[in-house]
Amino acid sequence: MEAVIVDSNRTMVGTSAIMESISSAVNGKEMTNVRFDPTAVVSEPVPAVAQSDDVDDLVNGGGGSEEEKREIVLGRNIHTSSFSVTEPDIDDDSTGDKEAYMASILARYRKTLTDRTKFHLGYPYNLDFDYGALTQLQHFSINNLGDPFIESNYGVHSRQFEVGVLDWFARLWDIEKDEYWGYITNCGTEGNLHGILVGREVFPEGILYASKESHYSVFKAARMYRMECEKVDTLLTGEIDCADFKVKLLANKDKPAIINVNIGTTVKGAVDDLDLVIKTLEDCGFSHDRFYIHCDGALFGLMMPFVKRSEAHAKNTCLLLAKQEFMKYYYEIENVKTVCSLFRYLMPLWIAQKAPKVTFKKPIGSVSVSGHKFVGCPMPCGVQLTRLEHVNALASNVEYLASRDATIMGSRNGHAPLFLWYTLNRKGYKGFQKEVQKCLRNAHYLKDRLIGAGISAMLNELSSTVVFERPKDEEFVRKWQLACERNMAHVVVMPSVTVDKLDHFLDELVEGRSMWYKDENVKPPCLASDIGSVNCCCPQHRMIS
Ligand SMILES: *Cc1c(COP(=O)(O)O)cnc(C)c1O
Repeated sequence: MEAVIVDSNRTMVGTSAIMESISSAVNGKEMTNVRFDPTAVVSEPVPAVAQSDDVDDLVNGGGGSEEEKREIVLGRNIHTSSFSVTEPDIDDDSTGDKEAYMASILARYRKTLTDRTKFHLGYPYNLDFDYGALTQLQHFSINNLGDPFIESNYGVHSRQFEVGVLDWFARLWDIEKDEYWGYITNCGTEGNLHGILVGREVFPEGILYASKESHYSVFKAARMYRMECEKVDTLLTGEIDCADFKVKLLANKDKPAIINVNIGTTVKGAVDDLDLVIKTLEDCGFSHDRFYIHCDGALFGLMMPFVKRSEAHAKNTCLLLAKQEFMKYYYEIENVKTVCSLFRYLMPLWIAQKAPKVTFKKPIGSVSVSGHKFVGCPMPCGVQLTRLEHVNALASNVEYLASRDATIMGSRNGHAPLFLWYTLNRKGYKGFQKEVQKCLRNAHYLKDRLIGAGISAMLNELSSTVVFERPKDEEFVRKWQLACERNMAHVVVMPSVTVDKLDHFLDELVEGRSMWYKDENVKPPCLASDIGSVNCCCPQHRMIS
């Protein structure tokens, strides 16, 4: 649906709605008595809408730190396509006009959703699910306010399900039931906000370390809590650069360290080497009581444990890839890149053998994941787990709730635990493993076809995030809902991304490029500084293949 409604239109809709509501209020009851009249109505219940011709400027202008001089393309301003709320007419009940109007809007919206779901590739959301069995629960206001483990006075809750789900995650991450604390959050961000808060409560003087490719919520936490924060460099894969981490740790040896470790970065799907991070801390003289690690597993926290790491398979794949890569450079054998690329293909072998497992057996303080990403919940949610000993430093009892307050929010979505519980029960370890394998297979398929078509692309080992050349046409980006950064776009291959969908996308991309780069002078962007020259297919880095 193309909603190209100009701004003046929006103003008109708003104004007429106000006129209607004012007239209906005037026709209604008037306040005649100065004394309190419980049946009286306020004569102008709807305040006038603030008018501004510069809504676009307000929404799309400003912002942007000095650090990022790059022009950032923002999405369209929703004010041009929003559905205004209109006041009911007096006779609405009898005519049913309003009901019919709303029903038609909702029906159209449903169609938009179906459409947009069909063309979604960029965000790591699994859109493939069926929660029909849970519709019967929609009629309840389920709220788990307070602590998941201590019932509050509000009885319409789903703690039975919440704690069941938390226990499942505790088993996944190797922590005993009586040693962990956690809750079902509103999203991965809340998990990060909580994990980093626990870290700061344990070490009030601590410095937060996070790789520069960490999710923006980590830096948001640093700002909210006014914590000193060190941004650590990354490797081209997107992983934290532990050499730089070491330099920064040594410069701040007098203060405890709070570290955000990424289990899948947002843009490149890179998994930080947890073991190397711990070793670096130890090498720099940080004993286990001088650091706190929060693992941000929003993206791959639930995929990593199910990546089947067959050593033999990894070895074969690596050797095969190394050979292919070698043949590519055969004609320019002096090129140092040959050696580099061979190493690049031996690296995954090494990673696959010692992929850093996330477990509370290691000295980590907390782990969080998103529930609406790989798991596939229809509403944003997440899971955050930490050690019980830590949370005691944070919690306080609240008499009004008869429960304990250790979460970030007050009220908590009581439906989310039901969705998580339902899907964990249905899929189980085996189901997730199957889906992870399918995602990785399809991600490789996409990457191979992109490279085959001469389009710059990269896929990290243990990841289903395919990074590739940012499409030149913003309309194309919008249609496929691709998230872009600098010259990169990515597709996060989720269970709902089928080969058919990828084929459709690839065909359109190839066709689009043939138009965008028809003119000899318009060249595809270079991605060497984003994903390495080995993965770059721009005219300058294109290899003989
Ligand atoms: C998506 C994401 C988040 C934030 O999760 P939300 O559920 O969107 O709040 C945090 N970290 C990483 C690495 C992510 O990919």
